[in-house]
Amino acid sequence: MGKEVTMDKIVSLCKRRGFVFQSSEIYGGLSSAWDYGPLGTELKQNIRDFWWKAMTRMHDNIVGLDAAIMMHPKVWEASGHVENFSDPLVDCKSCKTRFRADQIDTGAPCPQCGAVGSFTEPRDFNLMFSTYLGPVKDENGLVYLRPETAQGIFVNFKNVLQSSRVKIPFGIAQVGKAFRNEIVTKNFIFRTCEFEQMEMQFFCKPGTDEEWFEYWKKERMEYYSRLGIHPEHLRFHRHGADELAHYAKDAFDIQFLFPMGWQELEGVHSRTDFDLSRHNRFSGKNELTYLDPDTNERYVPYVIETSAGLTRTVLMVLCDAYEEEELDGGDVRTVLHFHPEVAPVKAAVLPLVKKDGIDELARKIEADLRSEFNVFYDQSGAIGRRYRRMDEIGTPYCITVDYDSKEDGTVTVRWRDSMEQKRVPASSLVEFLRSDMKAYKRV
Ligand code: ATP
Repeated sequence: MGKEVTMDKIVSLCKRRGFVFQSSEIYGGLSSAWDYGPLGTELKQNIRDFWWKAMTRMHDNIVGLDAAIMMHPKVWEASGHVENFSDPLVDCKSCKTRFRADQIDTGAPCPQCGAVGSFTEPRDFNLMFSTYLGPVKDENGLVYLRPETAQGIFVNFKNVLQSSRVKIPFGIAQVGKAFRNEIVTKNFIFRTCEFEQMEMQFFCKPGTDEEWFEYWKKERMEYYSRLGIHPEHLRFHRHGADELAHYAKDAFDIQFLFPMGWQELEGVHSRTDFDLSRHNRFSGKNELTYLDPDTNERYVPYVIETSAGLTRTVLMVLCDAYEEEELDGGDVRTVLHFHPEVAPVKAAVLPLVKKDGIDELARKIEADLRSEFNVFYDQSGAIGRRYRRMDEIGTPYCITVDYDSKEDGTVTVRWRDSMEQKRVPASSLVEFLRSDMKAYKRV
């Protein structure tokens, strides 16, 4: 077995240990839809919290929002999505497979069946999912599932401004589901039709936008090293003129080296006043403006956007953390080197034996830790096997309770990454783990 990280290994570990399951598997599965299992749910929640803290609580000028998934259909006319949010598609007339015209050579044989000259003319296919609100299925009830969370922020600009007394420059952050009828959904949870985004729109004075753009590029890249991602697995990719979205003045992707190659993880976009101005025009109300309290000047703010995929970040964190490590003696252990803050389980409490009061003592230690951390109690199997099970799900600490614990009140803390061990008084375990997690550095 090769030691490189492959998508097959990640998919298999995710299923085996309960991170991610195929949706509706019992009915043969639904393509491109995935369910997060017990550990995946914790991991996703922790990554969301990590982002939220970094993007709101650490800044005194960024506030949160949680907008509805369904919005007035005019929002998507104003944003340009009804007109522009499409991929050009071709069908092979021979095998009926559908492709994105920009991803294949339409003059060449079909990659599926080999037929030559068999493609239809490209047609634009809008990626927005639509449905009908209310009991009558007609055009009046047509609504879309939001294809991005950003527009919920733009249309609430005035509400947030008036209710939270923020002053420019300031940001609004939101995490939530978005939906796109993607044609090609492969590579596990990398690209799915239902996914989650973590977005922040930063409103600034026109003319200061380039400075803020640089600030957010730097800040977002640093965030990933704080999350413990290998710096050599991250890079910027600047959009060329042919890649720029209709609203963008400048755009950089932060890319990660996934098993299938370098791919986008997050976009940092300079959106100018495009969105606010369009909503001003399409709503017929010129309300999305800002009155500078110092100069009494009224203007439409410029926007710098940082837009990351939450579910795509889950995949990145799994891929970057995964290692098959060869141990002395030729044994191989699978370990996930998660940053402790996002690890689904922080500590495992392991009684060496199930008798002589050792298990009761271990249960007591578990209860003490539970109010602070997500802990897991495991008393079955050899201790080495229990350690391996925890390594494989990325648990940073194993706490072993033994006969000495009964005598002197200490327990053994074992580190996931170095496998080193140390005796620590059980009474100071909470503080010990808390400060050790704070000092965490990715090896
Ligand atoms: P791509 O080029 O991969 O289709 P995009 O440039 O359209 O992505 P944005 O609209 O900038 O993506 O969305 C911001 C982020 O949302 C992306 O960087 C990605 O992490 C995430 N994202 C976008 N589409 C999907 C999807 N279908 N599945 C999972 N995550 C997605």
